[in-house]
Amino acid sequence: SKVKVAINGYGTIGKRVADAVTVQDDMEIIGIAKTRPNYEAFVAHDKGYDVYTLADKVDAMNKAGIPAAGTVDDMIAKADVVVDCTPGGIGEKNKALYEKAGVKAIWQGGEDHELAGCSFNAEANYTEALGKDFVRVVSCNTTGLCRVIYPLDQEYGVKKVRVTLMRRSADPNDVKNGPINAIVPNPIKLPSHHGPDVKSVLPHINIASTAVKLPTTLMHLHTLNIEMEKECTADDVKALFAKQSRVRMIGQGIGSTAEIMELGKDLGRPRGDMWENCVWEDSVTMYEGELYFFQAIHQESDVIPENVDAIRAMMELETDGAKSIAKTNKAMGL
Ligand code: NAD
Repeated sequence: SKVKVAINGYGTIGKRVADAVTVQDDMEIIGIAKTRPNYEAFVAHDKGYDVYTLADKVDAMNKAGIPAAGTVDDMIAKADVVVDCTPGGIGEKNKALYEKAGVKAIWQGGEDHELAGCSFNAEANYTEALGKDFVRVVSCNTTGLCRVIYPLDQEYGVKKVRVTLMRRSADPNDVKNGPINAIVPNPIKLPSHHGPDVKSVLPHINIASTAVKLPTTLMHLHTLNIEMEKECTADDVKALFAKQSRVRMIGQGIGSTAEIMELGKDLGRPRGDMWENCVWEDSVTMYEGELYFFQAIHQESDVIPENVDAIRAMMELETDGAKSIAKTNKAMGL
């Protein structure tokens, strides 16, 4: 029988994880939890997901026309694993619920490493999550960084990573965050926390990061500068990246994040998502012995296949990370 997955928090990440789990043949969604009967809850109901809600919101859900399947506690009781996709900081409060119910749980990058004790990226440390009760799938930026740093380290040994993260300031459906006309160094104190977060997956990597927020909703863009132990050429790096299933080499006249998002739509991806890191092939350069390149990261979707692999590792449905990655990719159409 299939592994029973519940989604607690059906927003940007939660609704995507639900759909990605649904297309796998070894796991299924037994319910999603939504706090409010908004349009996303109606779509979830129309898609056939059982909609659960907080105990004090059951009446509101029923009155709005979405028959509540029960409370969040009812949903958790039926699940093998809960994927917690509530806003950063809320997921932490749910830990006691999961412990009490004896259910496995996955948190997202908005929570601290210590909450789960295991921070996850499928390519870099799949085996670390095997059989674990609690796992944290790292943030969109950290996922994007691990996907390129890990193979480079395996192949050439990474001596030092310097990265500047140019971050989207809000998701496309977010009308509350900004700026809408400024560039914001964030945080101003350096280096930023993004480098240390990569170490939650790859502890031995020497990395320093800085970050700014830009008035865009589309994607993050990273400028990387990496010193390596062994000598290699730009062509070696391009060939290495081309072998990574979750790294897409881009060119063909794509000169911006806007065109990458258009490509996602043209490819017929659900919601126009771009699950892979997008590395500009022409940017991959060796200059004075150091590697430079640009990559764009679709914040709303790059962590989605990683959540599927995390479920498979925790439930020990597959012990080989490469096989899980291939299975997830094939089912999603990646
Ligand atoms: P979101 O605000 O889009 O969705 C969160 C959902 O949780 C909303 O539907 C909200 O109604 C619901 N919710 C709030 N409190 C709840 C509760 N107590 N119980 C159940 N549901 C509740 O947030 P998001 O962008 O999907 O982020 C979720 C997590 O994923 C965060 O940790 C975030 O840091 C991380 N993350 C976000 C992105 C991104 O770019 N959006 C990327 C990677 C990781």
